[in-house]
Amino acid sequence: MPASVTAYVALGSNLGDRHAHLAAALLALDALPSIRLVASSPIYETAPLGPAGQQDYLNAVARLATHLAPHALLDALLAIEQSRGRLRRERWGPRTLDLDLLLHGETTLHDPRLTLPHPAMLGRAFVLTPLHDLAPGLVLSGRTVAQHLALLDRSGVRPAA
Ligand code: ATP
Ligand code: CA
Ligand code: CA
Repeated sequence: MPASVTAYVALGSNLGDRHAHLAAALLALDALPSIRLVASSPIYETAPLGPAGQQDYLNAVARLATHLAPHALLDALLAIEQSRGRLRRERWGPRTLDLDLLLHGETTLHDPRLTLPHPAMLGRAFVLTPLHDLAPGLVLSGRTVAQHLALLDRSGVRPAA
């Protein structure tokens, strides 16, 4: 079996029973033999990106230990989205569950299916706030997560009830 790497996954939901979708995603990840759920962040409620009129999101980040290669882990994430009834319609439209692969060890790659690190993560307070709970000192592009987060407007991100 290949060595285990640390991966970080961003979870989001703004349709249906949002808490249930996030909880089910964490359980489904941990249930895979090739993945161990190491830690999960607190859940935040955040203003949505994209088309207006959507419900607020719940967002969190999970730290995984996994033997899966990056594309295999992406496939697992997409399958879990499907199992929660994810439909792909308009870009950034409402969704039951969004699972983005933020980081897979030190991997950097860019192909039609997968970009690592996730290309938008450093500009998103709804991603960096929960990532900061798990890994404030992690260095990305020459700055810690804490330093990146300090550059962002966090006003749309609040602890979920
Ligand atoms: P964003 O990536 O800006 O958050 P999104 O999550 O709404 O947008 P999706 O419709 O969920 O985008 O995903 C579209 C495609 O993005 C996926 O099918 C996947 O192939 C691709 N993708 C590329 N890099 C990643 C990544 N790091 N994590 C998840 N999906 C990725
Ligand atoms: Ca996303
Ligand atoms: Ca996604």
